[in-house]
Amino acid sequence: MPYKVCTNCGKVSYSAAESTNTKWLCPYCNTDITHVKSRTSPPPKEGQNAD
Ligand SMILES: [Zn+2]
Repeated sequence: MPYKVCTNCGKVSYSAAESTNTKWLCPYCNTDITHVKSRTSPPPKEGQNAD
């Protein structure tokens, strides 16, 4: 699930839709973070040989 870190308050918000044309407002402070580069959640496992 892609997410962004608000540049204003530093909180993380997750997108409900993956549309890149939708405005992405921070749910905490309403800052427009559409231009902020989105990140993706790390995989559940780090390394496939972790035993
Ligand atoms: Zn914010």
